[in-house]
Amino acid sequence: MTARIIDGKTFAEGLRGRIAGHVQRLKIDHGLTPGLAVVIVGHDPGSEIYVNQKARQTVEVGMHSEKYELPEDTSEAEVLALVQRLNDDPAVHGILVQLPLPGQIDASKVIATISSDKDVDCFTPASVGKLQIGLPGPVSCTPLGCLMLLRDTLGDMTGLHAVVIGRSNLVGKPMAQLLLRENCTVTMAHSRTRDLPAIVRQADIVIAAVGRPQMVKGDWIKPGATVIDVGINRIPAPERGEGKTRLLGDVDFAEAAAVAGAITPVPGGVGPMTIVCLLANTITTASLINGLVPPGDLTP
Ligand code: NDP
Repeated sequence: MTARIIDGKTFAEGLRGRIAGHVQRLKIDHGLTPGLAVVIVGHDPGSEIYVNQKARQTVEVGMHSEKYELPEDTSEAEVLALVQRLNDDPAVHGILVQLPLPGQIDASKVIATISSDKDVDCFTPASVGKLQIGLPGPVSCTPLGCLMLLRDTLGDMTGLHAVVIGRSNLVGKPMAQLLLRENCTVTMAHSRTRDLPAIVRQADIVIAAVGRPQMVKGDWIKPGATVIDVGINRIPAPERGEGKTRLLGDVDFAEAAAVAGAITPVPGGVGPMTIVCLLANTITTASLINGLVPPGDLTP
C-alpha cells in the first residue's frame, strides 16, 4: 500500500473537542448556549440509532439538546406545527427532521417549513441557494466533512481537478459547489456519464458518492490522487456469522490504496465526520442568528 490513510475518526474526535471549546466560549462571552432539536416520526431502527447518536453528541459538547419522538401515525399538520414552534423558539438554533418520514407526511413540505436560519441539514431551497452563491449559513454535513478532511490532507486545492461521482442533492451537488469555492476544476459524473474510468483517471481528487460497493477500481485512480469514499454499503458477511454484515465503500480500497496518495477508509473515513459537522452547523447558525461571526474553522 502506498496511500496515506485519512483517519476521519481521529479528525472527528479533534473537531468535537474544538466544537466543545467554541460552545464554552459562546456561553462565557455571549451567554449563548447553541441548541439543536431533532425530530423523529415512527420507529425506523436505523433512524432511531442515528437520532440517539446525534442527541448524545449534542449534549457531550455542551449544547442544549431537544429530542421529539413522535408516533408513526402522527399527522403532517402536527409535524408542521412542531417545526413552526421550533422555528420560533429562541433556545433552538438548529432543527433536524430525520428522514424518511411515514407515507402520510410530505417530507418536502416539512423541509420547506424549516427556517433556513435553523436548517442545519442544509436541505431547504433557501439554504441550498445560500450555499450556491456563497452566503454564510449551514453547509450540507457530509460534504462539509469531506471538505475538512481534504483541507487537512491537501491544504490549498487551487487548480486541482476534482471529479465528483454522484449528483445527489445530499452529497454530490453540494460537494461540487464546495470544491468550486476551493478553486478546483470540478467535473460531476453520474450514471449517464460516458467512460467514467477515463474521467476519473484525470482527477487529482476523487469523491465517490454512488452507493455501489467497490465500484471505483484501482486502475481508475491517477497515481498520487486523493480519494474520498463517501459510500456506505452494508454487505452480507456470512463468514462473520449468520445474519452478519460488513461495510464497504464505493471504492475498491485495497486496489485504490496501492495507487492513491491518500484515501479515506470505510468505515472510519467520512462516516464519523457527518454528525460532528451537524454540531458545527449548529454553532454556525447559533452565531449567525445572534449577529456573531461563526468560527472560521467550522465553515467553508
Ligand atoms: P443517491 O442514490 O441519492 O445518488 C447516487 C448517485 O450516484 C446518483 O447521482 C447516481 O447517478 C450516481 N450513480 C449511480 N450509479 C452510478 C454508476 N454506475 N456510475 C456513476 N454514477 C452512478 O446516493 P447519495 O448521494 O445519498 O449517497 C451516495 C453514497 O453515500 C451511498 O452509499 C450512501 O450510503 C453514502 N452516504 C454516506 C454518508 C456518510 O455520512 N458517510 C451520508 C450520505 C450518504 P444518477 O443521478 O444519474 O442516477
